[in-house]
Amino acid sequence: MKSALLQNYLRYPVEFFEGEGSKLYDKGGKEYLDFLSGIAVTGFGHRHKEITEAANIQLNKLWHVSNLFESTPQEELAVKLTSITGLDSVFFCNSGTEANEAAIKFARKWGKKRKTIIAANGSFHGRTMGSLSASGQRKLWDGFSPMLPGFVFADYNNIKQIKNSINETTCAVMIEPIQGESGVIIPNKNYLKNLKELCDKKNLLLILDEVQTGIGRTGKIFEHQWHKVTPDIITSAKGIANGLPLGAVICSKKVSDVINPGDHGSTFGGNPIAIASANKVIDLLTDSQLEAINKKGKLLKKMITSLNSPLIKTVRGKGLMIGVEFTEPIAKKIVKELLNKGVVVGNSGVNIIRLLPPFILSKNDIHSFIKIFNSVIYT
Ligand SMILES: *Cc1c(COP(=O)(O)O)cnc(C)c1O
Repeated sequence: MKSALLQNYLRYPVEFFEGEGSKLYDKGGKEYLDFLSGIAVTGFGHRHKEITEAANIQLNKLWHVSNLFESTPQEELAVKLTSITGLDSVFFCNSGTEANEAAIKFARKWGKKRKTIIAANGSFHGRTMGSLSASGQRKLWDGFSPMLPGFVFADYNNIKQIKNSINETTCAVMIEPIQGESGVIIPNKNYLKNLKELCDKKNLLLILDEVQTGIGRTGKIFEHQWHKVTPDIITSAKGIANGLPLGAVICSKKVSDVINPGDHGSTFGGNPIAIASANKVIDLLTDSQLEAINKKGKLLKKMITSLNSPLIKTVRGKGLMIGVEFTEPIAKKIVKELLNKGVVVGNSGVNIIRLLPPFILSKNDIHSFIKIFNSVIYT
């Protein structure tokens, strides 16, 4: 039967009916181990008791009033995000691409006459025209040109190329601290630190897109905290409300100072139910929770590595954001076979699979994954 849905996705022929923790169930009751978390979103798993309760309380109280009125829960979440990052203020929207759109606008306003943003080849910042124009993957632009002007691209993990791209029109550098969609690409240890130093020296804003790396995914609340670097703008979304749509732009004082009433807005941004969920998510990301994420990530990586498969080229990642690169273009085939055997993962391109399991994953889950993964790569 012809689908009434726009055919912009290639969907797997599986429909999930319900979820519980790290497990998903289809209509026939078949159980799946969720190692994708809805693309790095449901970090605390499905139907998490406290998060569901927090959202439920708000659901039964008030759904929406717009941002024309004060909001204590938004204020509380903003205080949490600014104290974690040492930044000044927060704008709430509904998604990652919207957060990046806002960041682009804020950087241009701050830059006054300087409007150009340097971004990285291979980056992914979202699908709307501004974020898409900032995404350094030409294949995503096909059919949609002209792109928004004012973006130039340098190779990822290459400070020198960024330095050479700077001119009198540059206002900011926009970067993912780990490239997610491109296949979990981790830059050199000092990359962010050197980048921040360069930005300070040249009076540029450093915009970090932590839409995927943030909210505990890499074992800190934000990945940049590993590097003791304070960016000027951080964009967040994906895991922030454990599955409800929410995005956030966290701004330094110098950015906050140039934004005035009327400069930007969103009808739905910072929806009360999503905010209630996010306030609980941040509270749950305690030091011991983050430590557990690191431990589980290390164990998972170690166990995959020790499979010693000739098909595996590298296993890389941080916390529970892990990429497995194969020596052959078999990623899609592996994803399908894992799905058949009840494990959900994602792929990046033709030779990398991405593992983004929920933080609440158990040792048992890791062992089940390894057993099934092993059976798939040896058939
Ligand atoms: C997913 C993602 C986005 C886009 O987020 P949406 O919520 O899908 O708009 C932007 N940046 C990064 C790094 C992402 O991983």
